[in-house]
Amino acid sequence: MSTRTMKAVRLSEYGQPEVLQYVDVPLPEVATGEVLVRVRATSASYWDLLYRRGGLTPPPGRPPLPLPFQLGREAAGEVVAVDTGVSRFKPGDRVVAMTCPACGNCEYCMRGLDNLCVDTTLPGYQRFGGYAQYVSRRDSELLRAPDEVPFEKLACLLWSYATVWRMAITRGSLRPGQDVLITAASSGMGTAAIQIARLGGARRIFATTGSAEKSDQLKRMGVDEVLDYREGNVPARVRELTNGAGVDLVLEFVGGDMFALGMQCLRMAGNLVSVAQHGGRMVTIDLGLLYRSDLTIHGARASTRRDQELVLALCASGKIDPVIHRVLPLRDAAEAHRILERQEHIGKIVLVP
Ligand SMILES: [Zn+2]
Repeated sequence: MSTRTMKAVRLSEYGQPEVLQYVDVPLPEVATGEVLVRVRATSASYWDLLYRRGGLTPPPGRPPLPLPFQLGREAAGEVVAVDTGVSRFKPGDRVVAMTCPACGNCEYCMRGLDNLCVDTTLPGYQRFGGYAQYVSRRDSELLRAPDEVPFEKLACLLWSYATVWRMAITRGSLRPGQDVLITAASSGMGTAAIQIARLGGARRIFATTGSAEKSDQLKRMGVDEVLDYREGNVPARVRELTNGAGVDLVLEFVGGDMFALGMQCLRMAGNLVSVAQHGGRMVTIDLGLLYRSDLTIHGARASTRRDQELVLALCASGKIDPVIHRVLPLRDAAEAHRILERQEHIGKIVLVP
């Protein structure tokens, strides 16, 4: 590699995994206030699949999504160069790029809801993500990485774990002693949800999966009862296991029919938190069930800076430990997408440039 080029995975058109091309591209420029980071690990997510297929729309009022594009919500690595104005970081520092950097000044940031910042450009969505040997970021968009956490684990935390933290604890108000149902429990976010529900004091954790072979592994991770949604009546089984009541909290990672199924598994005054639409964006719900059972439905979008700092600290102290299914070289990004699409995985697929 010459000093002016790097390897990256980019897509110039939407389509099947083959559109992900491993190419030589110029090194990113380091603008005022920016830091150049050598990426040591990134990870693949359902978000990347949606973008690659052309299934995402830009946020309201924002420009169309860019093409050619470089996916990757997450990036962990080392600082290799800093602009003269940057004092927070120096070459050699281990860092993680924030998955939801925020401006700090807009109406939402001022209310402490920086996960909803209206003046940000999100990596892997509105600007180039981590599928490359190098990325440039403003110093305010980087967090210092704990020394004891390897890069492969760091590349799984800020998107999957911080989002799920906000989902379960902030939005879902998880309290010790509650029963929790997790849909798509073997996904990256699903495995994060198992750990965070356990950490939050859940009494029993139920999980849905469409693959019976994953049942034993999910149980070893802390799931009490694995429910195969392809066989049997999941809401009836959940009631049977909870003395007829249902669960306090559903963490819903699919959308479509699974959202409606999750609602049917709630006890009265229960909470459902939704973060996904790949199983279907439009859903029919039973309003009678909603009000008669005093249910609450929440959306959850990404995470705050505080959430992201918190999961780094929790990982450094061993309270959470990202589940990694495979580590692949970056050149095999298309294969990583195929594994996610075939749903063979339990946990995250990490890519190493
Ligand atoms: Zn803002």
